[in-house]
Formats: sequence, structure tokens, C-alpha cells
Amino acid sequence: MYLVANWKMNMSRSLIDGYLEVLSSEAMFGMLEEKGLSVAIAASHIYLDYVNREVHRRNIPVRVLAQDVSTRLSGAFTGEVGVPNLLDIGVKGSLLGHSERRRFFRETDEDVVTKTNLCLNGGVVPVICFGESQSDRETGATFETLQTQIEPVCQEIVRAREEGIYTPFYLAYEPVWAIGSGVNAGLEDIQEVIAFVCKGFSWPDPPICLYGGSVGLDNIRELASLKVLSGFLVGSAWLDPHVLLHSAKLLPKMERSTHEGVRFK
Ligand code: PEP
Repeated sequence: MYLVANWKMNMSRSLIDGYLEVLSSEAMFGMLEEKGLSVAIAASHIYLDYVNREVHRRNIPVRVLAQDVSTRLSGAFTGEVGVPNLLDIGVKGSLLGHSERRRFFRETDEDVVTKTNLCLNGGVVPVICFGESQSDRETGATFETLQTQIEPVCQEIVRAREEGIYTPFYLAYEPVWAIGSGVNAGLEDIQEVIAFVCKGFSWPDPPICLYGGSVGLDNIRELASLKVLSGFLVGSAWLDPHVLLHSAKLLPKMERSTHEGVRFK
């Protein structure tokens, strides 16, 4: 099972040091191994190099992901960070299409497809976020929105495979109304969406689906009972490494599935 902590625009060097101190405890190492858990941290660009170096220096079994990449590879695009920049510092994964990027920075479905293409081609594992808004839910437009977000991403992954590119990918279902709101989606809703996503598109290999949206100590065990989920993408709750550790303790020991063979790179 995959646990991804999204730090968003939080943390500082000293908070990161404290966080990694907790993750480097023997308790953490043992539990990840025993339970078959794979942990990743999505840090803001400014801290990526530092976190990645520290994780390696301390030998912590955690992958480091970016929170976004540019739609461009390089050039005169002030403020952007491209796939080659990530690779240059040894970061081999990134969140893409997070709802906060879509909502506050007007990222489009087309941008997400471009980013998916650049990541797959560069060997950077994309964790592609998708999800409906509150008004989509209320107006019955959920599946239409999901289709618009997912179909072109699926086509991009098919195209990559046809070209012999086998970079793994992850999908993260994050209903917009559940992110940071304290309200998480119902088990049946999640199950219905994941079934739609897995069966409604011609994926070249079975998607590995995570759920995100107000996951916490009070609900992670119940959510983990959903066999369709392979892990969680968590913001607020996992800003505290003790909560991440405690959440991992609450999870059942995972059967090794074919999915578990694919590690965050
Ligand atoms: C997220 O950042 O993707 C997220 C799900 O946040 P939260 O856990 O705070 O809802």
C-alpha cells in the first residue's frame, strides 16, 4: 500500500529535519517492511533537493516527489520547474493535476496531459490527481467531469506504452469538496468512482488508485478496507509525522499484490 504525504506550501528546514527524524526511527522502518507499505513525500520545489539528500543520507525508505512540473522542458519560463530539473536532483516522481493547481492556478486537463507526457517520457512517475467538484456532485455531473479529466490521460499512457515507454503511473481520486474540508467521500461513492475509472477506460496496465480527501486517524482503517484502493494521498493530517506513523500502524498488513511490485522510483 502506498502512503503519500502532500506537504503543499508548508514546512521549513527545521520542520523537515524533525519530520525525517521521526521517519528514521526503527519503529517506522520495521512497520513499513512488516506491513508492505511504501511511503512518499511530496515536497515543494524549494525543498526537494534538501529532502532528497537527507532521505538518502539518513537511509530512510521514503520516496521524494515533486508537487507539480512545468508543461515545458526548459527555456525562458520564469518560475517554472521542468522534468529535467527534477531528474537533475534525483527526483523521479511528481503529483500532477492536484485540484489546488487546477483551481488556484487554472491548470487545465490539457496541461495535465502535457505534464503526463513529459513525465512518462522522462521516467518521472506521475501521480495524476482527479476528482469532481461539489457542484459536479450536486448537479449529477460527476462522471462527466471524471471522464473529461481521465480519458485524455489514459490515451497519453496508451501512446507512451505503444512507443515502448513503461514509466509506472498512479491515479489519485481526490473529490475537490473533500480536500482539506474534514469531510471525506463515502465508501460506496469511492468504490463507484474507482470502478468507473478502472473499467471505463482502456488502460494498458491496471491503474494503481489512491484516495485523498480528509483522510485521518478516524477514517483511514475504514477506507483501507476498500480493496479497490492501493493507498492514500494525505495533506493536512500527515504534516505531522507522528500522525503518519500512527496511520500506518492502523493499516492492516497487506497481501503482496502485483501492484506492490511497483515502487515509487
Ligand atoms: C491533498 O493535499 O491532496 C489532500 C487530500 O489534502 P487533505 O488530506 O488535507 O484533505
